[in-house]
Amino acid sequence: MTGFQIYKPRLVIVKEINGTPVQGKCSSCKDVIFNTGSNAFAREHKQNLADQFREHFRKVHEREEFNSSGTH
Ligand SMILES: [Zn+2]
Repeated sequence: MTGFQIYKPRLVIVKEINGTPVQGKCSSCKDVIFNTGSNAFAREHKQNLADQFREHFRKVHEREEFNSSGTH
């Protein structure tokens, strides 16, 4: 079972305020930063980091992983 390794991009929390992640980045894309805004209480105004990352993942990485023509 060696040699089967997938480097899956993941959300890396960069900054937390009172235990709430306010800034994160993609482990694969160093230029990609996710922000909830500096105010941890303003989370209604922006998507949370997980949602932003999911969107980024869909746009960028899912395309890489599933670039075969199979759709389901
Ligand atoms: Zn990425």
